Formats: sequence, C-alpha cells, structure tokens
Amino acid sequence: MTDVSKTGNAGERALTSGAPEVSAAPAQSAVPANAPLSASGFAGLGLNDSILRAIAEARYTQPTPVQQKAIPACIEGRDLLVSSQTGSGKTAAFMLPALQMIAAQPSPEHPRFDSKAPRVQGRRPRPSPAKPAVLVLTPTRELALQVSQATVQYGKHLRRIVCGSVLGGMPYPKQLEMLSRMPDILVATPGRLLDHVGSGRIDLSALQMLVFDEADRMLDMGFQEDIDAIIEATPESRQTLMFSATIDARIARLAGRMLRDPLRVEIAAARMDNSDIEQRLHYADDLGHKQRLLDHLLRDASLKQAIVFTATKRDAESLAQKLADTGFAAGALHGDMNQGARNRTLTALRRGGLRVLVATDVAARGIDVPDITHVVNFDLPKQAEDYVHRIGRTGRAGRSGVAINLVGTGDIMIWRRIERLLDRRLAPSVIDGLEPRRPAPSAPKGRPGGFRNGAGNGKPGYRGNSRNSNGNGWPGKPSGGGYAGKPGGYRGNGGNGSGFSGRSSGR
Ligand code: AMP
Repeated sequence: MTDVSKTGNAGERALTSGAPEVSAAPAQSAVPANAPLSASGFAGLGLNDSILRAIAEARYTQPTPVQQKAIPACIEGRDLLVSSQTGSGKTAAFMLPALQMIAAQPSPEHPRFDSKAPRVQGRRPRPSPAKPAVLVLTPTRELALQVSQATVQYGKHLRRIVCGSVLGGMPYPKQLEMLSRMPDILVATPGRLLDHVGSGRIDLSALQMLVFDEADRMLDMGFQEDIDAIIEATPESRQTLMFSATIDARIARLAGRMLRDPLRVEIAAARMDNSDIEQRLHYADDLGHKQRLLDHLLRDASLKQAIVFTATKRDAESLAQKLADTGFAAGALHGDMNQGARNRTLTALRRGGLRVLVATDVAARGIDVPDITHVVNFDLPKQAEDYVHRIGRTGRAGRSGVAINLVGTGDIMIWRRIERLLDRRLAPSVIDGLEPRRPAPSAPKGRPGGFRNGAGNGKPGYRGNSRNSNGNGWPGKPSGGGYAGKPGGYRGNGGNGSGFSGRSSGR
C-alpha cells in the first residue's frame, strides 16, 4: 500500500529516512502565521512563541490538566511523577518543555550530519555516536511512533531540532542512518536502544532529560532490567519524568530509585470514571452469539471507526478476515505482524480506509485516532487494568465514545474484576432478537445492587433495532438453515453456531 497518512509519514521521516528535522513536518497550517495567540490558554505556561504557534495550529486552545501542572514544573527543571489517564494530553506535557529546553540551548557541540569526518588512511571513519539531549522510553513501537509524530507537530517551527525513533523490528541500516544525523531527541523502546548503546552508536552520557512514558506498562512487559541498564548509562544530573496510568507499589519503587524529589501530579485515578465514554455490557452465550452481536453493533449508524479487541493474534486475524468477507472495511493488528504491515494498517485506520480494526492488546495503548467512536471487547483483557487502556482508544481529546463488552460465560470472573476496578456495576444491555439464552449472572453476595438493577451506567439498557434479517448474524450471507423455525430455540442461534454462515467457528 503506498497510501501513507500525514502523521504516519511524518513519524517515519523523523525515524528513518533522511528528513528528520522536526521542522520538516508537513506543515498544513490550520492557523495563519500571523494569527493572534492571545486566545491560547498556553500563553501563561512559559512556552516560547514558536511552540505556541505550533500549538495554535494543532487547534489546542486550553492546556489539559496534566499539561497545566506538568509544563511549568518541567520548565523549572523538576523531576515529575505523573499519573494521568490515557488520552489526557501527556505527550505534550513532556514534549513541549523538552523542545523548549533544546531550543534555548546554543548550537550543539556534537558534529552535525552535514559535517564530514575526515578519512583516516583511506578508511571510512566510524561515525561518532549519537548523543541525544532528550530520551523518551516507551513500551511499544506504536506509542513511540505516536510520540515521534507529536514531536514533529509540536516542533514544526523550531528549525534545528532533530527527532528520531529507535524501535525493535526496524531495519538497522535506516536506524544507523538516522543516528548519524545526531538526533537531539530520541524516542525508543528499551531493547533496541540498549543494542545501540552496547555497540557504541548511542552515547547517553550527555542526556539532559529522560522520560518514561507508560512506565507501568514497561514493567508489565518485563523491561525492568533494561530500564536499569539504561539508567546506568545516563548521567545523574539528568531531569527525569515518569508517566504512568497507575502509581502502584512497583512504580513507586522505581520512582524512588530514579527520581529526585519529584513533583507528584495526580490528574485522575487510572480507574475509568470518564463520563465521555459510555460503557455497555452484553452477555453472550457462545462464540456464535458474540459474532452476531458484533455484526449488529458494527452496523450502528453512529459508529465511525471501531477497535475490536480479541485475546489472541490468531483470533484477531480470523475475525478481521471474517468481517472483511462480510463486507466491513476491516483489518487486523497484532504483534506477529512486521513493523511495515503494522504501520500500513495504522495509517489506513488514521486515514479512514479501515472502519474496523481487530487487534490484540498491542493496540490497547498508544493508538490515538480521533474518529474511533466505538471499542468492542470481543474478548475481555486478561488484566483488568488493560480494560482502562483499551476503552481509552475512544473518547479521545474531549470526544464521546462507546465501549462495549461482550461477556461470555467463561468471562464472568474477569468481568467482576473489571467492575471492581471501575467501582461500578453495569446493567446488561440487550438487543432485540439477540438476547442471551441464559439469565444474567447474579451479583456477588455482599455487594450492593445486582447486575440487573444495580448501580448500572446511568443509562437505560440499550435495546437496539431489530437485528439483521437472515438469521445468521452476518447479513449478506445465507442463513445456513439455522434459526428459522427452530421452536423454542434461541432466536438467532442457528446456522452453524458460528455466526458466520458456512464457516467453522474454531478459535
Ligand atoms: P495524549 O494523551 O498525549 O496521547 O493525547 C491525546 C490526544 O489529545 C491527542 O490527539 C492530542 O493531539 C490531543 N491533545 C493534547 N493536548 C491537547 C489540548 N490541550 N487540547 C486539545 N487536544 C489536545
């Protein structure tokens, strides 16, 4: 696919291919250069005019709470320990001060990429190592690319700042080329960064600012040792900012070792009480029922784009394929895909070419596409905390969103854990014609409110329109001789039981 999104393209350029100047971003200015900046609520935060202009062009008028608190403290040089919700604007909270810091410094001491090192005895000289001033560590490649893209956007009027990404799965030659351009800002996943540090291609001894983005996730993914090794390679004088959805005991320990007298910024507990996201619960009898529910839900006219989460890579692949066969513009995203394929899928999503992304938890964090109106947990996450991140893919930047949970009979325990985390109980929604056969499980003893009439989500149970007509859950396909006329049976549970006529249900 040659179609690359503006943002994806910018990220790749910053990352790899020879135009890594931050200012080289595609500058589709939404605001004229001479537009007044006085309307910007950012003006009082101590940011310079070039950055304020980029913010105005991004159409940010008011800083988010995390930006309001973190930006001035960061400009002052303080270490920060920040817990903030996903989608809270945390990237700008650290990247705007980082750009400002670099912009305020005199020209870098290290050789720029256009100054040629002399050959010694005809041999090509080994390039000097990249010595970034700012390092942002992220758990996943997706998040790293997103941070790079935001950096390009925020720094578009700062002429000489170079940002690059160092990610696992990226070809080495391109990364080496990028490093030879002496990036001021590196956005990296821990493993590949350490490779380059070990081989002397990156020198962190001059690092001024270290940012941990989604530190909790990094620990979940087993990066503790890598983090320790990276810290060893950085100077004590660095400023350190740690962002995490939750500040649990592990994060507090990590912060205790790595931060100096940090300002603690707590914007909102990681538990999701975000009223911009309507959460729904549908009980499902089996896989076929889930598939029919999904088909119905994806036909909702208010749905612009959706992410459907599955438990396994194989399920993501096969469900995306089945949806595509049924006529949905659907694609899969999971960790077995190479980086190129992942980028192409994300670009298609950003550009609106994909309406439904079926993904594993690789997409639970970091994906920021404003038109994602719906998140469907086809399978619930194994960790209750991941629920918050998954549903945070919708309701971005002040928009509203819908998060729908398909809870099968084997999912009750994990659903209970999620409800405990949310500190609320959702009333089950029912779609006419797609009701579950079994009664809803009763609420655990000793807790107020049952599932049916408990605290609920404050919304009346969702009763959708009548479901699609052919009885197999997937319109446009023959019903496979299922439900019709099956006396007393569950309406819609006919056919091959898979919901996908003519296909096996095997997971
Ligand atoms: P983040 O939490 O950094 O991933 O940001 C989430 C989304 O909010 C991104 O789409 C940002 O472009 C957007 N955003 C960040 N700060 C602001 C702001 N002050 N006003 C409006 N949108 C913002």
